[in-house]
Amino acid sequence: MWSIICHGGAGSISSDVETAHREGCEGALRAGIEILERGGAALDAVCETVRRLEDNPVFNAGIGATVDENGMVSCDAAVCNGRDLGYGAVGAVSGVRHPIDLARAVMEDGRHALLVGPGAIQFARQRGIELVDPKRMETDPSRARWWFTSAESPPEGDTVGAVARDRSGHLAAATSTGGLLRKYAGRVGDSPIAGAGTYARDDLGAVSATGHGETFMRTVFAFQALQSLSRAPEAPEEVLRLELDQATARIGGRGGAILVLPDGRIAFARNTDRMGVAWAAQGKPLQTAF
Ligand code: ASP
Repeated sequence: MWSIICHGGAGSISSDVETAHREGCEGALRAGIEILERGGAALDAVCETVRRLEDNPVFNAGIGATVDENGMVSCDAAVCNGRDLGYGAVGAVSGVRHPIDLARAVMEDGRHALLVGPGAIQFARQRGIELVDPKRMETDPSRARWWFTSAESPPEGDTVGAVARDRSGHLAAATSTGGLLRKYAGRVGDSPIAGAGTYARDDLGAVSATGHGETFMRTVFAFQALQSLSRAPEAPEEVLRLELDQATARIGGRGGAILVLPDGRIAFARNTDRMGVAWAAQGKPLQTAF
């Protein structure tokens, strides 16, 4: 049985963008479903889903990503293959049209798991990954988030991610983000850190997190959640929510996460006001939530 779920970020997202978030997640998920339906790999399905979300300026990833304290867009992304623990990630990259493509290229190269900054751009050039003028990554929504979010309001929202199980029982996870609003220049969040914001292991499950990245890094959230789920697999949504609440109670912040278990069951949880999600499984209709 195949199954797939994607998210468009957890946060205090305005209800004005509910339709855009639901439709954005749904459209991107359909691309992943098509791959899984024809027997394709979970890895391909999550990368394609995240790629579509990166193209949608509604979300804080790829085109439309938010800006740092200097007004620059810099992105983080990761992909993890549950089959062999293949892992590729990039941090603080500017001007990469699809950061998830670059993360995948790092994984396929296989020598390293995480590349950052100018070296990552050099690697992108060598591998033929599409580069654009970093200014082109900024769109009205990211500017609006930058200019109209007051210094006091919580910096969060709109990261994207996907996790899936394919017909062969392999799992994969992918996450992509512009990071937190007004982050320090050079800040890297949880999304590209293995076991924090992104993780997949065929015998445990696959997770993509969204929210306060420092919390997820400091609690090794994704791996911790999968460990807990392996001890209590009968109630995945409750366990995921409990892990979220424990992590945020300990460190601060808020967030959400999506999950697929080795048997294909899907779950999501958040302790933010909102998180756009879309999910589907073999023989079951696509659904969305916000
Ligand atoms: N987790 C992301 C980060 O800290 C942000 C988010 O999910 O909104 O970079």
